[in-house]
Amino acid sequence: MQIQGTTKLLGVMGDPVEHSLSPAMHNAAIAHLGVDYVYLPFPVKPAKLATAVAGLAAIGVKGFNLTIPHKQAIIPLLSEVSPLAQSVGAVNTVYWTERGWLGTNTDVAGFLAPLRSLNQSPNRDWKHTKVVILGAGGAARAVVAGCRELGCTEIHLVGRNRDKLAAFAASWLNTPISVPLTVHPWEELSMVLPETGLLVNTTPIGMYPQVERSPLTDADFTCLNSQTIVYDLIYTPSPTQFLQQAKAVGAIAIDGSEMLVQQGAAALKIWLEQPVPVEVMRQALHQKLGLAT
Ligand code: NAP
Repeated sequence: MQIQGTTKLLGVMGDPVEHSLSPAMHNAAIAHLGVDYVYLPFPVKPAKLATAVAGLAAIGVKGFNLTIPHKQAIIPLLSEVSPLAQSVGAVNTVYWTERGWLGTNTDVAGFLAPLRSLNQSPNRDWKHTKVVILGAGGAARAVVAGCRELGCTEIHLVGRNRDKLAAFAASWLNTPISVPLTVHPWEELSMVLPETGLLVNTTPIGMYPQVERSPLTDADFTCLNSQTIVYDLIYTPSPTQFLQQAKAVGAIAIDGSEMLVQQGAAALKIWLEQPVPVEVMRQALHQKLGLAT
């Protein structure tokens, strides 16, 4: 990749952003394609978000990603927000058009990609798959939207804070996506788990450095089996304790690394308006994570 006078800018805004793996993934794809772009980390404090967004427009940036804590705060600063991102209530990808900054959400596509590529997926009966989601934060919103897109008709969400659970449930009532969602306090977990077909951890429990932790006990896993898909959005470590417990009962385990790759690939495709080398991005990420490819 050669940076020159014509090189166009892409990047990721976050606070902190120093640990983002996106620059490695995107710049590997940019180098592979030989396009005249570079993808940079943009450390932006919440109070400076509006100034930064205006500044990026002023210098002709083509698009950017958003990570914690800007995924919701960006919304009022955009000219348009896609219906999907409106439903999710979060924007992770922004691109410049003649109408101004447009925001969308590629986390949903990222979440869905490994589920859709499961061997049995074409025949999988998502409609009758009971979904249980742990956690009620930003990532859980993308997971709910993704499960709705799969056609799931029974989605249970378990969280530790009753007020947040009520707000989470209420937030889906007036969105373009109608969602068959029931929320439960954490104490109801063991009652909710039996017959789960897809169990998704969206809490940070078990993420590095607290790698010995898991949101579920071994006893919780005894009601799951080889038909259950257990999906952890965490990608460091891989596998998490949660996924090791899942493998011990023979369940199908999916970690968060492919979601990260696929949300990035979907964003790059929007900015470059051409197919992108997903395998190159996957390898760059796996190399950064120390995973075998
Ligand atoms: P978030 O908005 O902070 O939400 C985290 C949720 O987990 C909240 O509902 C929080 O509950 C709950 N939680 C935290 N600690 C808990 C505990 N000890 N017991 C029970 N619940 C707990 O974060 P997020 O943006 O959704 O991200 C969540 C995880 O997903 C992170 O590990 C992140 O790295 C991962 N993620 C991965 C990808 C990917 O591409 N693979 C993408 C996005 C996120 P309270 O609301 O009560 O605090």
